[in-house]
Amino acid sequence: MMENHVITQPSMPNIDLHSHSTISDGVLSPSRLLAHAATRGVTVLALTDHDDVAGLNEATRSAQQENITLIPGVEISVTWHGRTLHILGLGIDPEYPPLVEGLQKIRDGRMDRARAIAAQLDKFGIHGSFEGASAQAGESRLIGRTHFARFLADRGYAKDVKSVFKKYLVKGKPGHVSHIWVSLDEAIGWIRGSGGQAVIAHPARYKLGNSLLEQLLNEFCELKGAGIEVVSSSHTPEQMRQFAGLATRMNLYASCGSDYHGPGESYFDLGRLPALPPECTPIWDGWQIQNIPEPVQQS
Ligand code: AMP
Ligand code: MN
Ligand code: MN
Ligand code: MN
Repeated sequence: MMENHVITQPSMPNIDLHSHSTISDGVLSPSRLLAHAATRGVTVLALTDHDDVAGLNEATRSAQQENITLIPGVEISVTWHGRTLHILGLGIDPEYPPLVEGLQKIRDGRMDRARAIAAQLDKFGIHGSFEGASAQAGESRLIGRTHFARFLADRGYAKDVKSVFKKYLVKGKPGHVSHIWVSLDEAIGWIRGSGGQAVIAHPARYKLGNSLLEQLLNEFCELKGAGIEVVSSSHTPEQMRQFAGLATRMNLYASCGSDYHGPGESYFDLGRLPALPPECTPIWDGWQIQNIPEPVQQS
């Protein structure tokens, strides 16, 4: 876990706006995720499963029991200039029909992609991966690369999920299939239409370079995106400072999230995040949240 290497200072109040459950590719069910968040002192949690909102009812019920404010969220897979981006929707209405239908369309596409991934792996002598990944996905209504990675790790093709992604499922390696998701315009439209705020997840992961990054942020602002993730388990401390600067310059809100997928599969544990740099305007500014304690003055 990276928390052993990075100086982390739990942000006060303890807000974590990016997490996954078994509804997508997380390890814990929504209620177990909330129970875990409570043990980590999280006061505000967003459940942001990939391309599905089916966990939000259970999460909301468990959050009430745990005295946590649950922010209904989603992480939408987007294709922008031939690259995959992840756009978080925070504070969405999970019943908004265009969002519900849009996410169903993405999950249908994922099923086609899963068959194509399995066919690719077949050619490399790895058989039965569609069934294997489906079994890993369990009750989830979607199949993701993480489910394939868990199957491959279980079969001994690599020592763990992280190592699988070095040898398989990524560009140039067996099991990689390029896929077209939905447009940035559509994703932001569904999020905003449902009353939510759109946030670019882990922007450093896309390795866009200055000019494309500038273009993305300009387009995102034009489409009325709200913020970018500054603090993320995908970011180094230097990248957190870089994106804090960009958020401030572009007048975007800053968000923070562990991107927790489960024990042993995430760099940051739930709620164990460094604080947002002080120049940032947090995305939760203006949210009506009951249980945000006053920040503790650090001496
Ligand atoms: P998908 O949306 O099905 O293409 O899968 C993307 C998911 O795979 C991410 O959300 C992560 O959970 C996981 N993933 C991608 N790259 C890596 C990596 N290098 N190490 C571990 N997990 C990864
Ligand atoms: Mn994931
Ligand atoms: Mn992501
Ligand atoms: Mn995520």
